[in-house]
Amino acid sequence: MDSGNRLNFTFDLNREELQSLQDAFCRSNDMYMMCLGRDFETITSFSGSKLEEEFVLENFSTQLRREILSSFTDGNPENVIERYGSEPYLLYRGVGIRGDQGRVLGAWICFGIDGDKTPEDIFLSSELKRTTAEAFDKSISLIETLTHYYCAEKLKAIALKNKLKEEADSGKEMEDRLHKNEIMTDILQLMESDNSFSQVSEEILRAAGEYVDCTHTGLLQVRQGMDLADMICEWVAEGQEPLKDKFQGTPLVDLPFMNGKPYTISSDTELPEAFMIYFGKYNISAGIFLPINVNAMPAMYLCFLSLKKNRKWSVEDLRFTNDVKSILHTILVKKITKNSLASSYSALDSILQNAGYGVAVSDMEKNSLLYTNETFEKMFSLDVDRMAIEEILFDKKYLLNELNGYFANGSQKWYDINFSNIKWVDGREVKLTTFYDITDLRSYQKRIEKQACEDLLTGLLNRQTYERDVNSEYHFYQKTGSEFAVLMIDLDDFANINEGSGSKVGDELLKFISSSINEISQIKGKVYRVGGDEFAVLVDHEIYKDLDLIVKRIRNLFDNPWVVDGVGYYCSMSMGGVKSSNVSDSVNILTRLSIALHDAKKNGKNQFMLYDENADVLAAKRLKIEQAMRRAVEEGCEEFEVYYQPIMEMVDGVTVCCGAEALCRWNSKEMGFVMPDEFIAIAEQLGLISEIGEKVLFAAAKRCKHWNDFGHPEFKVNINLSVIQLTRTDIVDTIRDAINFTGINPRNLTFEVTESLAINDMERMIAVLEQIRSLGCRVALDDFGTGYSSLSYIKNLPIDTIKIDKSFINDVTSDGFAEAFVKTVAELADSLDIDVCVEGVEHDNQLQMIDRFSVNLAQGFFFDRPITGEEFEDKYI
Ligand code: C2E
Ligand code: CA
Ligand code: CA
Repeated sequence: MDSGNRLNFTFDLNREELQSLQDAFCRSNDMYMMCLGRDFETITSFSGSKLEEEFVLENFSTQLRREILSSFTDGNPENVIERYGSEPYLLYRGVGIRGDQGRVLGAWICFGIDGDKTPEDIFLSSELKRTTAEAFDKSISLIETLTHYYCAEKLKAIALKNKLKEEADSGKEMEDRLHKNEIMTDILQLMESDNSFSQVSEEILRAAGEYVDCTHTGLLQVRQGMDLADMICEWVAEGQEPLKDKFQGTPLVDLPFMNGKPYTISSDTELPEAFMIYFGKYNISAGIFLPINVNAMPAMYLCFLSLKKNRKWSVEDLRFTNDVKSILHTILVKKITKNSLASSYSALDSILQNAGYGVAVSDMEKNSLLYTNETFEKMFSLDVDRMAIEEILFDKKYLLNELNGYFANGSQKWYDINFSNIKWVDGREVKLTTFYDITDLRSYQKRIEKQACEDLLTGLLNRQTYERDVNSEYHFYQKTGSEFAVLMIDLDDFANINEGSGSKVGDELLKFISSSINEISQIKGKVYRVGGDEFAVLVDHEIYKDLDLIVKRIRNLFDNPWVVDGVGYYCSMSMGGVKSSNVSDSVNILTRLSIALHDAKKNGKNQFMLYDENADVLAAKRLKIEQAMRRAVEEGCEEFEVYYQPIMEMVDGVTVCCGAEALCRWNSKEMGFVMPDEFIAIAEQLGLISEIGEKVLFAAAKRCKHWNDFGHPEFKVNINLSVIQLTRTDIVDTIRDAINFTGINPRNLTFEVTESLAINDMERMIAVLEQIRSLGCRVALDDFGTGYSSLSYIKNLPIDTIKIDKSFINDVTSDGFAEAFVKTVAELADSLDIDVCVEGVEHDNQLQMIDRFSVNLAQGFFFDRPITGEEFEDKYI
């Protein structure tokens, strides 16, 4: 490989990219910076107004900048360097920019003005950006991190490029070698041709010229007894002028290479004067000149020329051209000596022994091997291989065939085989067979094929492969009726994690999840990454009987947090599936999968839905719901009503009503009476939940204020907040408005939230909940025990009440775990002074059971169903 092919492991600092990084950074960090390359060249300069630039340059000497840069290039492993100037309020730092193996490529030179420490008597223009020592340190560590990521990305891109280049190179090298083998076989065949020497030579010049990829090849012959030479035959590449006519009766003195020695002259070779003149005259930029001697005297010259085009000959080129020369020599000698057997044989042998490929010459009549070279002997040294190959060598069936890709069982190697019929040195018709080892090429091709099917990040099969495999499985199903299924998995919270924790964590998580799915024994190798956070599983006919088990095992994987670098991430998934019996062509598999997946998502997290025939009907129904909902919201949410389900307080075994949970109902013109399970998720997806939620909030607050005013000042109302509402920046303002508008005591408003949001953006959740509490309202954690319950949330979240999900109460009388769970939660809550409410109490015995625990609130059909506001007032006020 010449130096042009050497792999590159470093990158240059890109001025534009760094400038935009710098601009974006300085805009929000109240400081100044510039970038220097390792040789002190300016990559980016301090940017700012003229006054700012002047101030920075005045106060940050070149000397100091140089010193900061050199402390990195001196081999300091530190990434940040701190320096002091004469004024304590001026801050100086350097941040190293490092490439491959920590090599310093340059540095950020950073400058800040500490506003707190600036002496009173010093006048600084207000135009100058001021920071504090603490903020400056934070900014510096931020730019350090950003730079680190920037460089890591660059290096990753380079590594990928190198890998591709390496592969392309080795692929090309192998193809070249294979090609050479074919050409050589062609040329060897010509050796024994009965045609005239010049006819044979012409063929050889063409094949060799094309292979070497030069512009001209020619044979120059010395006129016997005279100092003149003629070009007796020539090949020219397409579009090139022939030279033959110019070299007729040319004096030898004008042909400087014709002095008995071989010459290999590349374009960059320094030329002696005679050559310079000769090359100049014919526009030759490179050439190979090889003498063909007869009786120790140069009789001919074989020339390879490159006209006008620069050319550097490789070792391969030299080896090849010399082989060609030897062959021409053999032919020439043979013609001259009229088939002198001895000379032919030894010449042939010396060529074939050195060849990189195996050669066998077989006499088909006598079933005997006339000749094999050393390479052949090595290739087929194992008895099994030798026996098998001899069978082929003498098999007449293969006489004129070309066998591509022969596999030797013993050595486990692949060979490319070429057959040709030639006349042997003694004139017999024989078969010449050449063998070329293509094992590497094969495995290279396999690897390339595999890579084209794989997803780079996760190593799973990619989308194209998914389509191919599902298609072929579908065709198999059509032919044989063997059933299969396709599963589609979509991660629910991945976007949150990726944004919140960075794409590095995101990538690691994706890899972890992918490999875990792919580890499930039945489906190993049948898992595909079909989108950013989407995976597909082909449950083909072989494993179809295990479909239920497979679904179960996939779901189990998502029961626990995924631990990446010691941190647990909750990432649930929704899964849709479609069975072959439910598709009518391979294309609609995908649409039906998305319908199933969509339904699964609608049902909450970690759900699985199979597509069923009715799904199309469902899709139409859904469209109708969407239209009706859009209209209802546009018309002011009048159709959305609020029902109230009483919440009971348990005091010494007696239960009394202490308020209600507000539950929304949609009384739709088109759809009739719709329950929340059917419309809340859609409202969330359509972005209409905030409007609906606002309507519920105002109505419930107004209603509760009325109860408070009419004899029950302690009655509270619970309002459900969707995750979507919680992420809206104006949620706290909306609540404040509702309090002001209705005049309710904020103490009597409780907001019920679910855990899901807390999972990946705990800090944000805590901040919003704290703001809500600072208004004086209370917060309840709803549906506790479903999803990702962790007792630690209870400690970390600012909450006043825990509502234990009704599924636990269902089981509490029969299931030991449910009982223990309720008990534990109740005890923990008690110790933290948090109320516990159990939901879904339907039977007396459930109530008796939980009465033993420190649970003080209860809700359920046992007491009352959700009822209208008027009904509630009739009963409880
Ligand atoms: P949730 O917050 O868990 O509300 C309690 C649900 O349990 C209510 O269903 C209620 O009718 C039901 N329930 C109460 N006691 C029993 C019982 O003893 N047995 C059984 N089987 N069920 C009982 P509902 O009203 O259909 O509401 C379903 C869900 O819809 C609610 O679950 C809540 O997540 C959501 N939702 C309701 N109204 C609103 C709202 O205004 N805003 C938001 N964001 N979500 C709401
Ligand atoms: Ca609730
Ligand atoms: Ca609930």
